[in-house]
Amino acid sequence: MKYLILIPDGMADWRVERLGNRTPLEVAETENMDFIAREGACGIAKTVPNGFEPGSDVANLTILGVDVRKHYTGRGPIEALARGVSGEIVFRCNLVRVDDGVMVDYSAGRISDEEARKVIEVLNTEKPHEFVEFHAGKSYRNLLIFNKRFEDKVRTYPPHDIQGRKIEPYMPSDGELADILRKLMDWSAEVVPGVTEKANMIWPWGGGKMPQFPDFRRRYGIRAAMITEVDLLEGIAKGMGMDVVEVEGVTGYIDTNYRKLVRECIKALKEYDLVLLHTEGIDEVSHEGDAELKVEAIEMYDEKIVGKILDRIELDEVKILLLPDHPTPVKVRTHVAEPVPFAVYGVRKDDVKVYSERSCAKGRFGRINGLELMNLLTAKN
Ligand SMILES: [Zn+2]
Repeated sequence: MKYLILIPDGMADWRVERLGNRTPLEVAETENMDFIAREGACGIAKTVPNGFEPGSDVANLTILGVDVRKHYTGRGPIEALARGVSGEIVFRCNLVRVDDGVMVDYSAGRISDEEARKVIEVLNTEKPHEFVEFHAGKSYRNLLIFNKRFEDKVRTYPPHDIQGRKIEPYMPSDGELADILRKLMDWSAEVVPGVTEKANMIWPWGGGKMPQFPDFRRRYGIRAAMITEVDLLEGIAKGMGMDVVEVEGVTGYIDTNYRKLVRECIKALKEYDLVLLHTEGIDEVSHEGDAELKVEAIEMYDEKIVGKILDRIELDEVKILLLPDHPTPVKVRTHVAEPVPFAVYGVRKDDVKVYSERSCAKGRFGRINGLELMNLLTAKN
């Protein structure tokens, strides 16, 4: 038996008034996802444990059976895994724009890779501590690495959550590490504007030690591959010993290369026991807050990803799990920690006829802990 996990990031939503009080998923024509729900069985799964931020890292780890309460150390270290770097503590390090003490742009105008790299280079040349190292990533998404141990924890805030607000209450405080971070941020405000006009300081967040995730193959006895458009999922895969299949020309948006994603997915299914296909476009559209565009994005996903895959696999040889990692309601334009609808194909049917938030809640699996999903998928039923 082969296993396929389809994760359209952020697809679940709330009822939207201007969609006639239906969710984008309910409005969208999704015959292929409906097929999976109708011929399989459904439920809703809590993928973000209480007390955790509903990030894609936490949600996808939970789906893969990793108890984040034991293993999650932060977003920075997972991105470090993706890039093949490590340190004692790693922070995600945004290049941001702050004017008059207010966070005006967490992405520094989506600064180009090239310009960001120049900034990182200068930061590394002029850094005030030997144990600190900056690592260039993509655009505003860079890393700050500490090659020195600190026992104290520091509370940081994602800059996209404080957009438009005074930064002072969100600056690191309390403790040695916080003190160093704060000084680094102040120092960066002197250095960065000399290199670029887009950003004027760094914003470290999501820091932690390198995690020790359970090895996927040892745990489930099957070989797995990850196909994704984002670093974060690549980091999770590498941390769990899954292979990462690179796909050319993907954009992480709704204009992504659907054909290549499908082609690589089909190819990987021949080679591996399990393939996880994670796509980002629907989440991006949700962050834009455009309900109509989200409906379109869901229809494109259904047709160009799910439909094309169903056409090309042997349906009695592949078990499929379909679910978003977390909801990203267009109304709030951010992730929420509520349960997500899931459908499993290749198991005893239930009465659910379509794939949606409300219909899946009536499925025979009921409401489950997201940690049970992998067992449910790989169980012999
Ligand atoms: Zn998102």
